Amino acid sequence: MIIVLKPNISKKDENEVLKEIKKLGYKPHVMRGVERTVVGAIGDERTHTSLEVLGSWAQVESVMPVQKKYKLVSREAHKSTSIIKVGKQIIGGKKLQIMAGPCSVEDEVQLMKTAHAVAKAGATILRGGAFKPRTSPYEFQGLGEKGLKLLAKARRETGLYVITELLSEAHAELVAEYSDILQIGARNAQNFQLLIAAAKTGKPVLLKRGLSMRIEEWLLAGEYVLSNNNPNLMFCERGIRTFETYTRNTLDLSTIPIIKKESHCPMVIDPSLGAGRADLVVAMCYGAVAMGADALLIEVHPNPAEAWSDGAQQLSLEGFAKLMEELKPFIAAAGRE
Ligand code: PEP
Ligand code: MN
Repeated sequence: MIIVLKPNISKKDENEVLKEIKKLGYKPHVMRGVERTVVGAIGDERTHTSLEVLGSWAQVESVMPVQKKYKLVSREAHKSTSIIKVGKQIIGGKKLQIMAGPCSVEDEVQLMKTAHAVAKAGATILRGGAFKPRTSPYEFQGLGEKGLKLLAKARRETGLYVITELLSEAHAELVAEYSDILQIGARNAQNFQLLIAAAKTGKPVLLKRGLSMRIEEWLLAGEYVLSNNNPNLMFCERGIRTFETYTRNTLDLSTIPIIKKESHCPMVIDPSLGAGRADLVVAMCYGAVAMGADALLIEVHPNPAEAWSDGAQQLSLEGFAKLMEELKPFIAAAGRE
């Protein structure tokens, strides 16, 4: 940590700060400038009280971390983008991966129809919620284990890999048994115990951005996965809550270059949640691909008008097939496959 002292403080005031730094278990290095004194404090914050407490001292102007708070997710820790293997597919490599499927698994016919259609159009991973995080307890909560079994059946029939949301620590083993990637939803993005439980299953984890989460908080949430011995983490931007009402969320595409700069973890864009409107999904995908997203997560339903959840933002099977065709020049222009 760097502790900047107020200008022109007395020697006695300075010594009090240095004494406190030592008392807290850190080694102070004093750097005297013309106008002010800066103290570098060395020590491990995980085993000592954080020096941030000094920020409230009258002698102290500011306390700043020397290094980024996130270590393992940082690009400094791993120069090239991490490659995540999902069966025979790779996320973070040259190929743009498409994860597509219904918001919720509703029944066998709905899921199989969607799975076959998205596979035919070029998706490699099937999405579908079995445990749904609904705003109201009176809305459809998902089929639970029955939904997971249907996803497994679709996987067998189509060869698609499966991504589904893990809502609760209690279900970590169960969901990991059926799913190739565990999705941590926006509402749980800072549920640290859930992140640890997900990491410990050993399955790749897709971490959505929370509704009002700062990028640093998001990176630190990801740090919980990597620091629990699971290197297979990807970040997924799905829009944040702003004052805007024309869209359900504001899809923050600036996170693509920012996450790519700060982290080696692959970056996924969810344009469906991001816009909340099917008519905007295609344009959002173009933007995401052009900006370097490694994968897209798209909601697709055989009959969006009758979907049990998120009907307004789901593409029809035809709409999805058309999108996949229209994306081709963007994929090529971005130097991907
Ligand atoms: C979803 O993907 O179905 C979902 C609930 O997403 P989010 O957590 O981004 O709201
Ligand atoms: Mn949804």
